Amino acid sequence: MNTKYIFVTGGVVSSLGKGIISASIGKLLQARGYKVTIQKFDPYINIDPGTLNPYEHGECYVTEDGMETDLDLGHYERFTGIRTTRHNSITTGRIYKTVIDRERHGDYLGKTIQVVPHITDEIKRRMLREDEQGEDLDFVITEVGGTIGDIESAPFMEAIRQLRWQLGRNAVCVHLTYVPYLKAADELKTKPTQHSVKELQGMGIQPDILVLRTERHLDDAMRLKVASFCNVDLECVVQSEDVPSIYEVPVRMQRQGLDAAILRKIGIPVGETPAMLPWNRFLEKQRRATREVHIALVGKYDLQDAYKSIRESLNLAGIYNDVKARLHFVNSEQLTADNVAEQLKDMAGVVICPGFGRRGIEGKIVAAEYTRTRDIPTFGICLGMQMMVIEFARNVLGYKDANSAEMDPDTPHNVIDMMEEQKSITEMGGTMRLGAYECELVPGSKAAEAYTADNSQLSTLYSQLTVRERHRHRYEFNNRYLDAFEHHGMMCAGCHPEAHLVEIVEIPALKWYIGTQFHPEYSSTVLHPHPLFMDFIKSCIDGTAQA
Ligand code: GLN
Repeated sequence: MNTKYIFVTGGVVSSLGKGIISASIGKLLQARGYKVTIQKFDPYINIDPGTLNPYEHGECYVTEDGMETDLDLGHYERFTGIRTTRHNSITTGRIYKTVIDRERHGDYLGKTIQVVPHITDEIKRRMLREDEQGEDLDFVITEVGGTIGDIESAPFMEAIRQLRWQLGRNAVCVHLTYVPYLKAADELKTKPTQHSVKELQGMGIQPDILVLRTERHLDDAMRLKVASFCNVDLECVVQSEDVPSIYEVPVRMQRQGLDAAILRKIGIPVGETPAMLPWNRFLEKQRRATREVHIALVGKYDLQDAYKSIRESLNLAGIYNDVKARLHFVNSEQLTADNVAEQLKDMAGVVICPGFGRRGIEGKIVAAEYTRTRDIPTFGICLGMQMMVIEFARNVLGYKDANSAEMDPDTPHNVIDMMEEQKSITEMGGTMRLGAYECELVPGSKAAEAYTADNSQLSTLYSQLTVRERHRHRYEFNNRYLDAFEHHGMMCAGCHPEAHLVEIVEIPALKWYIGTQFHPEYSSTVLHPHPLFMDFIKSCIDGTAQA
């Protein structure tokens, strides 16, 4: 079958969950045996979200090929298990950069370069994934960030209008709107939806399917009203009620026939509804996992989305271990030797979060010391791992001034620094190690055991003792100190096979004290939780059982 295109846009307000709906559509089509990809177009000027403050955009999600992207790509991967690439995350900045570079190169032969058609053509090219020949996809789902009517999203809407015309039935437009509930009137209001659709129609786009985001159930009469005001079939008005877990969304959408409506619009026989057994089994486990395990996230961004993939990885690993991971944010900027006992009281485990810059690092070091000396399961991720190393250097090896060259370029004990070896493997020009690199696990280490734990679900993903994990950092463990560390009990449990950069450290004498230079959270998915998170949670549970 030739490739079909699904465009997902949103109206009324932002944060309606377009990412989750796009991911759910992907999942449902996959369950019917189709090959799918999902891509996100963001209307801001930044070339990529890498430099965006997490307070504005939440976490930066990193693809295997080293692209710093929007956190929605994390949803796409967790829901569908597909591996996204740099071609799945596009911004206005990148579109303009391509066009301007081409113009400088003289490719336009002296023509005046304009938003229409040059920018819109470049958007269309990317929506059609013209650079990705040979992908053999059945469906390309394109989510456009922002809301209808934003000045900056106008070129994207124009591109969709043109593509719908060009592709005919091979394209479907899904529009997501908000249906507010007015408490005083005890009424749900569909007017904003009507206005949003009108605005879309004004841009020449007639949506095929409406997904109404609502806190209350919409009855058929309401759906019928929306259908008739918006020129949409009744069966194409789907509601997305608030649910306790985002992972319930695909089955809710399936029950309402969202995937069937898409197929019908395109003219593909709908066939039987797939059972989605593994997914439903996961949901069943999620519903039953009520026993709570308390885990602290020590970080500097007090915002749910800033550590999205870590949160989801812990949640998923919790569910597969039959517990509900209750996550408590602990602000590392306010964490001191005096209050750490109080702050981390009753925690079964502690995650020391990634980050950049000095702010809040001393608090992370305090946390690392507290959990190390009390044998509380601890998982340090990227900067978190580096802080475990610095704490060990200061308090066990006795290098009181130990630091990372990132925080103190003149420290005589640069246990974390920029390494010569890393230059041979990082891309030309960039100093940041980004994307997936191999890590050879040290046989017999706790980390190796975690990866190879007898779990048939995981064995296909992680072959033997070499794993591939994603990175996003500039500094590394300084190998000059490795002997001293190992002599005192902090071991290298995994390293890059050629450059010998330390990828994992652990203290084998403790229950679970592991730090990874990479970000395992980016590769946890609903059906394949990451083995390190699985093992970490297991050890947190064991700890509480003994207490
Ligand atoms: N700031 C550290 C580095 O660049 C760690 C980065 C991170 O935690 N992602 O090495």
